[in-house]
Amino acid sequence: MTTVAAYAAPGAKAPLERTTIERRAVGESDVLIDIKFAGICHSDIHQAREGWGEAIFPMVPGHEIAGIVSEVGPGVTKFAVGDRVGVGCMVDSCRECENCRAGLQQYCVKSPTWTYNDHGKDGEPTLGGYSEKIVVDENYVVRIPDALPLDVAAPLLCAGITTYSPLKHWNTGPGKKVAVVGLGGLGHMGVKIAHALGAEVTVLSQSLRKKDDGVRLGADHYHATSDPATFEQLKGTFDLILNTVSAPVDFAAYLSLLRTDGAMVNVGLPEEPVQITLQSIFGNRRSLSSSGIGGIQETQEMLDFCAEHGLGSEIELIRAEQINEAYERVLASDVRYRFVIDTSTI
Ligand code: NAP
Ligand code: ZN
Ligand code: ZN
Repeated sequence: MTTVAAYAAPGAKAPLERTTIERRAVGESDVLIDIKFAGICHSDIHQAREGWGEAIFPMVPGHEIAGIVSEVGPGVTKFAVGDRVGVGCMVDSCRECENCRAGLQQYCVKSPTWTYNDHGKDGEPTLGGYSEKIVVDENYVVRIPDALPLDVAAPLLCAGITTYSPLKHWNTGPGKKVAVVGLGGLGHMGVKIAHALGAEVTVLSQSLRKKDDGVRLGADHYHATSDPATFEQLKGTFDLILNTVSAPVDFAAYLSLLRTDGAMVNVGLPEEPVQITLQSIFGNRRSLSSSGIGGIQETQEMLDFCAEHGLGSEIELIRAEQINEAYERVLASDVRYRFVIDTSTI
């Protein structure tokens, strides 16, 4: 066991504070990672404040982890000391079910072991990336290509893969019209990746406040959803709508923007139930779907794709003591476009 510094939420109503935690001894197939940077995902806030239901405390959030391998177990074959690596939302899964065998570990039938707010196979609570070090089985670790600086790579471990996976699954490419709803952490990576895949990209944001950024990130069009004219003008336009909004949206309004056979895919996970009538997908064979992060192999593929295309996250680097303030700013949609913690300040 190693004692390391971390930032933890003691309870759902309490701010995060500095503490120490124990990391397990490095096992046969484990790697010990010196965490350099950890992104702040909106999911960290949903969970640290019990917005998705009862959670496990004290909670060390963080599932956008980038660091350097500092020790490997005797059975490790994929990584060596000094390697640049990343860990995302899961640190294990059953490895036997149909989904695990197909590389869709995130949909493990028995449930993946989440990086935090879960219990590992040893029964101990899992603790995430807002910490100095983490021990992870090598099969749930990915390699960060040299072309990607670790700080801008960290958010790819969740925001990157969560947008890459559905964009690929729904065949984003030249000739396809893709709308990204919400220009936050996930949304800005969705725009970059969809653009790099060759699609015609539209941002649908609450206002035109971030329009210049959206265009710089790769959007061909940018519209404010607060303007009812947007929904008139864009009726029947898109092959794919990627909804990254962290709050409930008016599904009927967005679904009306799909072409025949178009799909609206939700990656945003609001805390409140949403309302939808089936009439809003009736007609034009539209579909409403969802997507969750991505498998381990696909996460590696995404990192290699981002390295090849020079795609990192747009980040605001913060010190650990700014985490609580950063949470408030994420909740106010005041983030351009991902807060990343410099873990040397913990
Ligand atoms: P974020 O950085 O806060 O971005 C969300 C964006 O949604 C905001 O920047 C804002 O964009 C828009 N928005 C926020 N509140 C809104 C409201 N009331 N009405 C309309 N638009 C609103 O969050 P994130 O880290 O990208 O995460 C987004 C959601 O995805 C969260 O619910 C998170 O839990 C979920 N998530 C899911 C997965 C998955 O695997 N499916 C993975 C990661 C995260 P504009 O300012 O441009 O309007
Ligand atoms: Zn996340
Ligand atoms: Zn499984």
